[in-house]
Amino acid sequence: MLQSNEVVNCAICQKCDWNILATLKSGIWDTNSIDISRININFHIGNCRNCNHVQIITPYTIDTFKILYFSNNAEPDMWCESSLENSPYAQMYEFINEYVRDGLHIADFGAGSGVTLKLINERVNNSTLTSIDFHDYTQSDSINHIKADLNNLSDISSYFKNNPIQIAISTHVLEHIVNPIEYLNNITKYLDVGGLIFIEVPDCKPKLSVQNIASTNIVHGQHIHYYTLDSLDVIAHLAGLKIIKSNQLVSGNIPRLQVLLKKYTTRHDIIRKINPCADILVIDRFTQYTEHQKNLYNLIISSLKDNKVVNLWGVGGDFYNLITSYSDLIQYIESKKILLYDYSLANHRFLGQKILSSTVLKDSELEVILTPIYDPTRERMKKISRNWSSIIIDPYE
Ligand SMILES: [Zn+2]
Repeated sequence: MLQSNEVVNCAICQKCDWNILATLKSGIWDTNSIDISRININFHIGNCRNCNHVQIITPYTIDTFKILYFSNNAEPDMWCESSLENSPYAQMYEFINEYVRDGLHIADFGAGSGVTLKLINERVNNSTLTSIDFHDYTQSDSINHIKADLNNLSDISSYFKNNPIQIAISTHVLEHIVNPIEYLNNITKYLDVGGLIFIEVPDCKPKLSVQNIASTNIVHGQHIHYYTLDSLDVIAHLAGLKIIKSNQLVSGNIPRLQVLLKKYTTRHDIIRKINPCADILVIDRFTQYTEHQKNLYNLIISSLKDNKVVNLWGVGGDFYNLITSYSDLIQYIESKKILLYDYSLANHRFLGQKILSSTVLKDSELEVILTPIYDPTRERMKKISRNWSSIIIDPYE
């Protein structure tokens, strides 16, 4: 364990009076030796008794950020592309379309690979487009890139002195930021008169029309904060902004909340209670997750009872959480009644068993059970194995 028992103050009201809703069990494998071992990070998710805000209350250390952001070089795949009718980025552009004109300075904070800015670039002329992120994945001649730590935006204030922004964009970033009010305050300082900020975050309103919140990454160690439209309203006011437009939509299984913010002349310092807040969504996610684990466990046990060897594909976080919750499975791994397959961990050992490469499943005629719960991962595994002779079983469908 990397962590202490400390908890942080609420990022909205600064009080420290939490009702703990759940604990997210995250981590990575230490693969430095043949025998892999787990480095656990537990994130407690709290509901502020004072203002109702929902956030991870475990302090983030440099080590936590390293593990969360640099253990994997790939950009996270948030959307299940094949299940989408419309591009989420086109829908982001649609939301701000009426305000986009030629000749503006448009800056994307946390631009990622710059998809939104590239869409804008196709539609406007004589504009200044700026991407701000800790890496430069934009790789475009028509976009200026500023390398910045998004948790310390004041470091780059000099850039905006002579380049005030007409439209600031920050999509799927505010949930990752340690101090969202300071973050919005900084962007507000860089706005031109009448400038706007477009924010998109996962929508954590209760009773969403999303069937399976446990197979999304909405509750994730990278997501410090869980917002509803009302919590964004409170945060906006505290940053001297107001919501002038909002939209709630669902793409695939990702509920999305979009707001457009404008500078407000009178700043509100009174913190009111957020209603509704994200508590129900977080609890639903953990209830569903536990249910998924139970279904997978029951499937494994019933196969073992039929004297079958059980083949599990995917030795990741969900697999690790499963054997932590159901530790009677460990003996079956040790006795090789359960066999483990994983492409990137192949030839490493876990509980004395050599992990096999998933590529051997291609030409075998085995029954194989997928372990990852996250939708895009399962989708990718099913796509890879489409023409394999093994029978792939999805225990979560
Ligand atoms: Zn609070």
